[in-house]
Amino acid sequence: MRPFVYNALPARVVFGIGTIGQVADEVRRLGCRRALILSTPQQQSDAERLAAQIGDLAVGVFAGAVMHTPVEITEQAMGRLRDLGADCTIALGGGSTIGLGKAIALRSDLPQIAIPTTYAGSEATPILGETEQGRKTTQRSLKVLPEVIVYDVDLTLTLPPALTATSGMNAMAHAVEALYAQDANPVTSLLAEQALAVLAEALPRIVQSPGDRAARADALYGAWACGTCLGSVGMALHHKLCHVLGGSFNLPHAETHTVMLPHATAFNAASAPEAMAGIARALGTADAAQGLFDLAGKLAAPRSLRELGMPGDRLDEAADIAAMSPYWNPRPIERDAIRALLQDAYDGRRPDPALYPTTATETVNV
Ligand code: NAD
Repeated sequence: MRPFVYNALPARVVFGIGTIGQVADEVRRLGCRRALILSTPQQQSDAERLAAQIGDLAVGVFAGAVMHTPVEITEQAMGRLRDLGADCTIALGGGSTIGLGKAIALRSDLPQIAIPTTYAGSEATPILGETEQGRKTTQRSLKVLPEVIVYDVDLTLTLPPALTATSGMNAMAHAVEALYAQDANPVTSLLAEQALAVLAEALPRIVQSPGDRAARADALYGAWACGTCLGSVGMALHHKLCHVLGGSFNLPHAETHTVMLPHATAFNAASAPEAMAGIARALGTADAAQGLFDLAGKLAAPRSLRELGMPGDRLDEAADIAAMSPYWNPRPIERDAIRALLQDAYDGRRPDPALYPTTATETVNV
């Protein structure tokens, strides 16, 4: 056993089917009486249904959450929060809505209940990404970690198959990078491998049959486990590349993670053989990167940056930005190798293990 440091995050998790019925109790348990419910415009009717359900404990709905947590939207929500005298927030939705709840918590220090309806995992992390004048910045603070997460499997039944596939692969990216994280530890490594196995098994079942409650429950559990990994250990090249592609080229979040994951995994394979063995074991495949690429294919998810609208003549620029600021990765970041990786991802090429040989004698650089 290697030496390690493990920081557990304080959060209460309520997981099950029909748990939305417990939200009123959770509000009271926090000592609150005036909740502001947050959602995207698309999920406004769900937020209003929740408001009606918890009755006097809800003071209003703010249905303006959008992707990348723009500061202007947070300021509008803060205005509404003050006008209504809210004493807590309830974020009902995916990473965008939960991001808004976190941005409000950063400014107000009010407690939050997160009710996730995608697999992005933001609810389990003390990380907040915000956008101001087109620039996305990320910070870590326990202030933004939701006090309570209520997972209700039924709320995920409406997540369309395409979003289920990409959101699920987005979750898996957290687990993949947790396995070779600089600060990997036995708790997150166990969770990560189990989460990969559960999601790899559940996602194809859901894409076939979106109403399959058992598969939905497995996937939501896997998403929580992946989010817990993301919240506990540092991420590396894959997340950095997705940040660059989303932030500077406006590519969609979950889809970009889906396309990039097999290529980032292949890039790191030779430097993280133990992690690769864990990923391959979880997927039931011989090769980690190919297993992820094939899973995306099975889910009919996008597998090339070209499909996502990335301009082919800007791959050099993306490689430059990704190689510019130093960050930890099991394999050193070299600009030309990143450029080659981006080309593979752009073309949607199946990662070729011959190009990234792994040997049992290599040591993991953690
Ligand atoms: P999202 O929250 O933007 O949701 C995408 C769309 O799907 C929205 O229109 C939403 O209303 C809809 N939707 C969500 N759940 C649904 C359901 N069950 N049924 C029908 N429609 C549903 O997408 P996302 O991928 O969950 O979140 C992406 C955002 O989260 C990005 O901004 C990303 O940076 C952030 N994120 C942050 C962290 C973190 O730790 N800070 C982690 C992961 C993602």
